[in-house]
Amino acid sequence: MRTNRLVLLAALFALVAAPTAVAQSEDLRVTQVIPAPGGDVVRLTQYFQGIPVFGGELVRDARGQDQLGKLTQSAAGVFPPNGAEAAKQVFGSTQEIKAEPYWYDATLLGDAGTGHAVPAFVVTTPQRTAIVRAADNAVVASWDNQHEALNRVLCDADSARFDVTNGAWNTWRCGPAVAVTRAEADPAAGIADVDLIHQYFGDTSEYYRKLGLDLTGTIGVDYADGRGKALRATVRGCSNEQCPYVNAFWDGRQMFFGSGLSTDDITAHELTHGVTQHFSKLVYRGESGAINEALSDINGEFVDLTNGSADDTAANRWKLGEGSSIGVIRDMKTPENHKQPSTYKGRYWYTGTADNGGVHTNSGVGNKVAYLIADPGKLGITKSGFLWARVQATLTSTSNYADLGKALNNGCAVLARNGTAGITTADCTEVSKAVKAVKIG
Ligand SMILES: [Zn+2]
Repeated sequence: MRTNRLVLLAALFALVAAPTAVAQSEDLRVTQVIPAPGGDVVRLTQYFQGIPVFGGELVRDARGQDQLGKLTQSAAGVFPPNGAEAAKQVFGSTQEIKAEPYWYDATLLGDAGTGHAVPAFVVTTPQRTAIVRAADNAVVASWDNQHEALNRVLCDADSARFDVTNGAWNTWRCGPAVAVTRAEADPAAGIADVDLIHQYFGDTSEYYRKLGLDLTGTIGVDYADGRGKALRATVRGCSNEQCPYVNAFWDGRQMFFGSGLSTDDITAHELTHGVTQHFSKLVYRGESGAINEALSDINGEFVDLTNGSADDTAANRWKLGEGSSIGVIRDMKTPENHKQPSTYKGRYWYTGTADNGGVHTNSGVGNKVAYLIADPGKLGITKSGFLWARVQATLTSTSNYADLGKALNNGCAVLARNGTAGITTADCTEVSKAVKAVKIG
């Protein structure tokens, strides 16, 4: 507050004492006149060489008296011609992105700085805004545009039994039906399953935020219980048949966990079912269902491998469920270890009708292609994350494995064209190889 007032006073002094010196390279433009009780309010924005200063604004009353505002002292530097395009690369290319030139002075945003402005680009997506310094493309400030801040609501069922088989979701709704154990602002509950899932909801939200997706805003549910839109889970629930219940699922609105299932990969797997439900809407049967399962395994493992948890060992890489009460359930690198196919219609490919047509079996093909792209193909987890986010956005509800092959190749080409996350055409050659290796293209 004190800094702001000093800047304002300095700015006023400059304007009053030396108006001609300021007028050369700088001008104040009226951007808005707002009728208000007591007389019109005039809003002015500070410009240098025709480019506005971010946050450089003055508000004056109708008599021209300054009421409020902050200005930068000076501005210097060059806006590169390709700067806007370069700045856009801080976000993925799967969404609308706007990049506009501004002079940036950190002190106007209340941050430490010199009080002088440098060239920058303000990059905006529907979800986030970032200020990117033109000299080195560094993100010097960023924030969420949507007001769906991460909101987690966890309810401990403490082994209460529910009719899971018949999907009686009303009875396990976290908030209206089961009492809340830990809301977003609450301290740790002291119940391991509750506190771990709180943590992994956060890790998964952070993973998707980097891909430009607001998880709470996209898949959160508002039960009109005063807790707002939130990622919710009922934890340590039992089924009528089994206690402890050794499973976890996304019920279309929220999550349900048995006890001991609270691992990062399982949590991110289930939340990704929510993302799929909102984007590609892959039908949960046959090949589209297997791809639905694979997308959950892939993003689940990517969260696991990037959240800095202790289980990210080389031996656990590509294994799902390590550390849970049910142990490792799938191996993306070697699906055969759990009787899943590595190739389309290859060994272990399931053709029966159980499990919606083998959605948890034939997902091995999608898992394997993700492993091949990331490790042998050397795209790694960051580039792969953007590629699979692109794929998630482009598949349709009935996509099959041939469609997945196309979506991977096309998606990579688009990302390479935009230079997203540093993806190159050489990377796309590797993607194409992986797609051929699992026989889906
Ligand atoms: Zn699943």
